[in-house]
Amino acid sequence: MRILQVSAELFPLLKTGGLADVAGALPLALQAAGQDVRVLLPGFPAIVAGLADARPMAELTAPWGDTARLQLGRVPIDGAPALPAYVIDAPRLYDRPGNPYEDGGRQPYGDNHRRFALLGWAAAQLARGLDAQWRPDLVHAHDWHAGLAPAYLAFAPPDAGHPRVASVFTVHNLAYQGLFAPWHFSELGLPPAAWGIDGLEFHGQLSFMKGGLCFADRITTVSPTYAREIQTPEQGFGLDGLLHSRSRVLSGILNAVDDQVWNPATDRLIPRRYDRRQMTGKAFCKAALQEELGLAPQPDALLFVVVSRLTEQKGLGLVLEGLDALLAQGGQLALLGSGDAELEAAFRQRADAAPRAVSVTVGYSEALAHRLFAGGDVTLVPSLFEPCGLTQMYGLKYGSLPLVHRVGGLADTVVDASLEDMASGEANGFVFGGFDADSYARAVRRAFALHQRPADWRAVRANAMSRPADWGTAAARYLDVYAEALG
Ligand code: ADP
Repeated sequence: MRILQVSAELFPLLKTGGLADVAGALPLALQAAGQDVRVLLPGFPAIVAGLADARPMAELTAPWGDTARLQLGRVPIDGAPALPAYVIDAPRLYDRPGNPYEDGGRQPYGDNHRRFALLGWAAAQLARGLDAQWRPDLVHAHDWHAGLAPAYLAFAPPDAGHPRVASVFTVHNLAYQGLFAPWHFSELGLPPAAWGIDGLEFHGQLSFMKGGLCFADRITTVSPTYAREIQTPEQGFGLDGLLHSRSRVLSGILNAVDDQVWNPATDRLIPRRYDRRQMTGKAFCKAALQEELGLAPQPDALLFVVVSRLTEQKGLGLVLEGLDALLAQGGQLALLGSGDAELEAAFRQRADAAPRAVSVTVGYSEALAHRLFAGGDVTLVPSLFEPCGLTQMYGLKYGSLPLVHRVGGLADTVVDASLEDMASGEANGFVFGGFDADSYARAVRRAFALHQRPADWRAVRANAMSRPADWGTAAARYLDVYAEALG
């Protein structure tokens, strides 16, 4: 099957969150399953710079007048066959300071509707045969940035002699919907029928997310629990009715972990490698991390780590609220994150007040993230909601036991260290139900209590490290969904 994956980010070229990890790993897993996969990406500077063997493929003029050059090259990935990539080269749209979506002052760019409509529109052009050498059977669009691809496909005129190109849309986070002023709809080159309650209109605004939700043949999201949650008013962000009405074509497929990138036995970003049979390397990583971060060099101090975007979603208010109790029990906290200025300041203040017990690194560092999972004992992910969550899975893999709120993909991947689940060999972390300070504090106390029982701690950690999370399994599920979409 020829599959075109469309997303705004892709690890290792450009990453702001979990979307990039998935967009980087899924195509390789599909390739390994024998599929013919290409990706389509916007030409952000890091993507253009990272593309190997680029050559111009076509000139594009969007319905609203923006022009771009489509390049075809490949994403260079160590140890994997080449991943062919189409990149929309349009410096005027994509070569800007800030992150892919916002300027340096964290304001969304005023022309985001055009920057990302171009992504969806270009996908539809490829589906119409823009590249005479390679035409997809199916377009798989990720998140709102690519949400118009299924809409453009649905409203493309019939293509005589060529089978219909199917579309799949994956929701990585329903909280980000790509909402714009309604008058921009007229710029997109879509027919009036694409507007309205069964189309791109969302309470009077233009919604790119709805492009995917209304017009894709199949919808997926990144965990089975989140697939159920987004059909409820509490977590549906106003789209629960629509999602419920499409529940027959909606499924949850749990993300996996890219073993080439996240594996303590082979990871070159950590000071010493280890695996579940040979854990001395982990103790070494912990000591090295404590030294690097200026934490007290105590092997027995339970070291909690956080690697996260600092947003309200991530539940870090609970971590702040519970920090005194955590420190009073002899724990340490090391955080890496960036985002909300108030959260940054609050955590910095706590580090200034107790530098031997609390370390806060504001910023983005792939390498430090690896060292944190390797050196940590517990990975905190107390998110209010979490579509899948990857950091708890990295914590599992690196034996840094996840402590999570029972929600979304966290609920699907972490099993609390209760006596019965320890006895059955399934316990792999700490889970709390209520999103409140007390429930969180009790889970933290559970972590300390387990740590007092070294044999049990080691058993739970071994469970965590042996939890299967390979992309091959997830890719097989996506292939089932693709087959359904192709009908
Ligand atoms: P989300 O996509 O909501 O940010 P996920 O848990 O799905 O959350 O994925 C987050 C990804 O981003 C993980 O790979 C995590 O390691 C990484 N990450 C988040 N913040 C940082 C940071 N400050 N530095 C390095 N990596 C980070």
